[in-house]
Parts: sequence; structure tokens; C-alpha cells
Amino acid sequence: AGGAQKMAFQAEVKQLLQLMIHSLYSNKEIVLRELISNASDAADKLRFEALADNSLYGDDSNLSIRIAFDKAARTVTISDNGIGMSRQEVIDNIGTIAKSGTKEFFQSLSGDQAKDANLIGQFGVGFYSAFIIADKVTLLTRRAGDSEAVKWESAGEGDFTLEVADKATRGTDIILHLREGEDEFLNDWKLKTIIRKYSDHITLPIVMKASEWKDGEQVPTDEDETVNKASALWARSKSDISEDEYKEFYKHVSHDFEDPLSWSHNRVEGKQEYISLLYVPAKAPFDLYDRERRHGIKLYVKRVFIMEDAEKLMPQYLRFVRGVIDSADLPLNVSREILQSSRDIDNIKAGSVKKVLGQLEDLAENQPEQYAKFWNEFGRVLKEGPTEDFANKDKIASLLRFASTHVDSEEQVVSLKQYVERMKEGQEKIYYITADSFAAAKHSPHLEIFRKKGIEVLLLSDRVDEWMLGSLTEFEGKALQSVAKGDLDLGKLEDEAEKEQQKKIEDEAKPLIERIQTALGDKVKEVRVTHRLTDSPACLVTGDNDMSGNLERLLKAAGQ
Ligand code: ADP
Ligand code: MG
Repeated sequence: AGGAQKMAFQAEVKQLLQLMIHSLYSNKEIVLRELISNASDAADKLRFEALADNSLYGDDSNLSIRIAFDKAARTVTISDNGIGMSRQEVIDNIGTIAKSGTKEFFQSLSGDQAKDANLIGQFGVGFYSAFIIADKVTLLTRRAGDSEAVKWESAGEGDFTLEVADKATRGTDIILHLREGEDEFLNDWKLKTIIRKYSDHITLPIVMKASEWKDGEQVPTDEDETVNKASALWARSKSDISEDEYKEFYKHVSHDFEDPLSWSHNRVEGKQEYISLLYVPAKAPFDLYDRERRHGIKLYVKRVFIMEDAEKLMPQYLRFVRGVIDSADLPLNVSREILQSSRDIDNIKAGSVKKVLGQLEDLAENQPEQYAKFWNEFGRVLKEGPTEDFANKDKIASLLRFASTHVDSEEQVVSLKQYVERMKEGQEKIYYITADSFAAAKHSPHLEIFRKKGIEVLLLSDRVDEWMLGSLTEFEGKALQSVAKGDLDLGKLEDEAEKEQQKKIEDEAKPLIERIQTALGDKVKEVRVTHRLTDSPACLVTGDNDMSGNLERLLKAAGQ
């Protein structure tokens, strides 16, 4: 073909390909999983576009994925009759990865192969995984509605070629020219085993030729065989789904390599009818704090994929949740704009949030070690909850965990409920201190009197804590009180004799206080005798209604 045009991969694609081939060579089976997953996405996209233009189906509306191998040519081919790609789409989708988060991705690589393999999976570099087992990949594709096809070919090094091609049918063929030593993929039984293991939950039929034994060898026949179950996993009844199937499905929707921490599968009936299958991952994705995160919840309407959305189906503070929501009520032609202001969506979202919070409560109560893992990964995100989701503030508050003087370790393990149970006779408030770091909080002179009296203080040093405290002002009727703010009245915790003693000290110190006040002048609001210190001679406090010292520092650091 004379018209082939040579194009260079973006520098990052090159780098990524090298990384992938080197860190994923022990995960070869995922290649099929990724390519099948793309074929399935392509079918979803066609179904969705065809809602508006039924002619896109042409005379072929039975969507499926086909897998074949050719021993002589040493190729494995994955074909779909989904949406296909135009020439420009091929250039945009395969060959450039100016995807959001690229920089963060490279920054988060650790050099540890197992960890990085996981990251690569999350980044969604599915297509390029082909080069783990292939030293040349040919992609032949024709977009639904187009008459012209395009052929893309690459050896996975610096460049790829593109040319106009012939293809009789809509969709995409991906031909893997296997590397030396990868002949195990030229095996009927092996391919079918991988498909059943990794892609059973794919809703489309995955078709291969049935095989028969001839002269001690398994040879393909002319007959088609559907290898997978080909039904939407979430629509099946719970009792028909194994743990492994749930886990494999999670990997499909989340692009994660690891098992999830927990999941809940719900069929909601009544005013709104929908199915939700919601997972809590075991590990935070590298783009947890990236505004342009790629993944979220997949929305389906009556099994038709509508969109993957990171915002409308889950609040920000639960942005780590992955899964599927399948509505029976929404119109099939629902658009992003409609979703924006849909009452139905609001209800589904509210219901789903309840399910996730319930799932976390359950984990906290029944599997505390698992919950501790969850907290380490996502605790800082959950702390955004009280501010964002006022309606569920109490539920969220009971899920929070903190470091405290009770354990005196940096680990955040103390719940507010535990704190309240340990409160001293006569103690009315939940005391906390905020600081830049755990060490600063722990060694703060403000804590001296509390330590002396054996009163527990929560040690808060995450950036999000100040933000959280703006909304979280009480728990079970007990006010949260900073130990660094205002006049510290330990109320009934001090006995009368102690109070008299303090009054005496204050009177005696009056002349000294007046001298200090004059010396410091306008630099301070007030100088007074304190009883909160036991070892340090003096400390700074802020007024009851003033910003805390820590918040002031944070704002200054942010240039305010
Ligand atoms: P992801 O699936 O996470 O987007 P991939 O690397 O697996 O990342 O695929 C990149 C893009 O290439 C897809 O988003 C899609 O636009 C396109 N693509 C890949 N395979 C196919 C296919 N079989 N049919 C149509 N488009 C495809
Ligand atoms: Mg993919």
C-alpha cells in the first residue's frame, strides 16, 4: 500500500510502552481482557449513538465480539462490530496520550514493578497492552456510517503507520502478531480459559469457533460457540454470582488490578427502579486529587450504557467509589444536560450515597482491620463529607477516625463515639487541636493541662481538617472545642479548691501582667494568667471568634 503515512508516537506514549512491556510481562493474560473490554465499550457506544440514529446499525444489529487465531501466521485477532473509529479518532485515541493525568501518572511511578503494574492498569492504557505479547499490531477499523476504513500498524517502538484500507463491515479488527515465545496464545483451550476467567461478565457474546479433537489435536470447526455467559452481571440475582465474578467485574469497571475492599449489590424498587453495584477499592487511584479524573460510576438505562460520570452520580467525598447504576425509569436518550437537573438522578444519587455509607458502617463495625485499610487510603477524602453533604453529616461523623492523645500515635484510629465513651465525669466538650503536623499537634503546650487531667484531645494535622471543622461542630450533642481557642473553661472538671488557688495566683500576678501588657502594646489583644500550662512558661492563643493559628498559616501559605 503506497499511501501509508508514517507518524511518530508522542514521547509519553513511547515511554509508556517501554514501561508497560517491562513491568507487565508477567500479566500477559490481561491483554485479552483489555482488548475485549475496548470491544465491549465500542458496542456500548454504538448502541448509544444508534438511539438517535438507528441507521447506524445497517443490516447488522447483533453486536458481538469474535476471537480467532491462526497458527501458521502466528496471529490472534479480536474483532467487534461496534462503533469503529474514523481516521482522526484513530490518531486521537491511539498514538497520543495527552490524556489528563499523564504527568501525575509518571510522577507516581515508584520503580516497584508490582506497584507500577497496578498503576499502569488504572491509567487505562488498555490498548497498548497489546504490545506485551505482540511485536506488531494491526488495527483495521471502519466507523459506523462511514464507507472508508483505515489501517493502523505499529511495532510499538517510535512510530505507527496509517493508510486507507478496505473493510467490508463496520467495527474494529485488532490483529496481534505474536512475539517470539508467545505461542501459548495460539491455543483454543487457553484462549477460552482466559476469556472465561477475565471476561465472563462482558454483556456481549464473545464468540469463537467450537473445536473438536482430531488425531490427538484440538482443531477448530466451522461452528460458532459463545464462550462467555454474556449477561449483565449486575442484572443477575445475587445468589447466582460468585465472589470471583464480583471481583473480576470490579476490575473491569475500575481498571484496577487489585481486588476491591467491599461491594454492595442492590435492586431498588418503588418510586424509582434501579440496580446498583457499588465497590469500595482497596487502593486509592493515583488521580484521586485530580480534577479531571477519568473514572467514576457507569450509568446504564435498561442495560444500555449511557455514560461514565465522575460527578453526577456520587458526591466528591465518595469519588473513590466505582461501579454501575442501571436505571429502569430514565429515558434512553438522556443527555448530560438532562442529567444535570434531573430529579430522578438526584434520588438515585441520594439512595446510592446511603448504600455506600451503609457499606462503610458495616465494614467499620464488622471488619475493623479492613476499615483501617480503607481509612488510610480514603480517610482524607471522607473528611470532605461533613461540608459537602450536610444531610448525611451525622452518619459521616461516625465514620471519621482521628489520632488522639489516648493512643498518642500518628495512626488515625479513634472514632468520635469512642471519644465520647471515654469522656471524663463532667466533661461536656470534645477537645481537639489542629496543627501543621502530627508532631506539632502532639507537642503543643496547649495539651499540658489536658494531659495532666487525663482528658483526651484529638490531634488533627491533615490539611482538610480545618475545612472539616467548619461544618463539623458537634457530635451526639457534644460541641467540638479547640484547646487553642479563647478562654479555656474546663467547667466542672476543675474543683472549687483548684479555682480558689487559681484566683490567688491571678491576683498576685496582676502587676507582672500589667508590665507585660505595656511592653507588648498593640502586638497582643490581651495578656492573662493561664492555668492550661504545666511546663511551658507562656503560650499564644486566639480569640474565641478568631481564625485558628493553623488556619491562618494555611491561608497565608495559599497567598491569602
Ligand atoms: P480506555 O479504554 O481506558 O479509553 P484504551 O487504551 O483501552 O483506553 O483505549 C483507548 C481508546 O481507543 C478508547 O477510549 C477508544 O476510543 C479507542 N478504542 C480502542 N479500542 C477500540 C475499539 N475496538 N473500537 C473502537 N474504539 C476503540
Ligand atoms: Mg480500554
